[in-house]
Amino acid sequence: MRGSFRLFKVFGISINMHITFILLLFLFLAGGVKWLFILVGIFFFVTLHELCHSLVAKKFGIKVREITLLPIGGVASMTKMPEKPMHEFLISLAGPMFNIMVIVVFFLPLKYILGDEVLFHPLSAATWPLTIAYVYWINLVLAVFNLIPAFPMDGGRIFRALLATKLGIRKATRIAVSLGHLFALVFAYFGITRMNFILVIIAVFIYTAASGEEMQVNVKETLKKFRVRDILPQDFVSIKPDATLGNVLETVFHNRQEDFPVVADGKMAGFITRKDLVTGLHQFGKDKTVSEVMRKDFPKVKDTDTLVKAQNVMQANGVTALPVLKDGDAIGVITIEDIGRVYAMISRKD
Ligand code: ZN
Repeated sequence: MRGSFRLFKVFGISINMHITFILLLFLFLAGGVKWLFILVGIFFFVTLHELCHSLVAKKFGIKVREITLLPIGGVASMTKMPEKPMHEFLISLAGPMFNIMVIVVFFLPLKYILGDEVLFHPLSAATWPLTIAYVYWINLVLAVFNLIPAFPMDGGRIFRALLATKLGIRKATRIAVSLGHLFALVFAYFGITRMNFILVIIAVFIYTAASGEEMQVNVKETLKKFRVRDILPQDFVSIKPDATLGNVLETVFHNRQEDFPVVADGKMAGFITRKDLVTGLHQFGKDKTVSEVMRKDFPKVKDTDTLVKAQNVMQANGVTALPVLKDGDAIGVITIEDIGRVYAMISRKD
């Protein structure tokens, strides 16, 4: 996520902190060391909450690149959305379930050690035992808050997953998004009338994120109907490995194409993207040959794959163009712009 920096990496997932989190740090620092302890507690349990989502997602083959910690909670960036409603149900449930588990497991030990007086005291950081109780109850707040059925929060995702098993993903999303918008408006109302700006920020976040996901689902459902071969540009150019970067640049100028399969003796040997070309020209000049700059290990799609698959492969690998193969031979290149054009065409019709 933009404006965030990496703290550490765990299970191959980068844990990032958003700059705005620093503001919170200053705010809590002003309150002294006990408040700092509470902040670390929030940080710790939000991270574990997000990691639980991520580990279940991983079980279903969904990679999580990073977890970003914002002042209003954490966001796990997944490379794709879960395919099956059941998967989304379990992924979404994992986070709040973790917090509930913490509450259950530590309830009796803390009741015994701190005593009822401290454990059931209103939240306060007046003494260390009260501070520990505070950190413990953060889990209840995280569980309850995230289970509110305001899509795209966890509760909203669980709600959509349950609806999707009956109504299909498109209709289920539309209903969940409407409910998400409704919650956002209610949050915004209370945020403004009670001067609670965190609540207003959360409302804006929920509203825009819900709309964004509805759009995403619509795109995906549309793209499912098409295969790569249905939209593959017919004229395509491949490049020989001994061509120079200067040659490739000329080819770019003469054709609409900007990413090229590199073919040697009728076999695909590599792939060179617009980005590879630009960096190559910058670093080595135009006399360097393609074989020295091209990617030898590159993601690809088959002509029979759906556009959703192509989009997922691009997203997972952070590329905007893919070579298209038929029986092992390169027969074209598909770009994110090609896919975008299809969606724009279709969505204009309805
Ligand atoms: Zn969650």
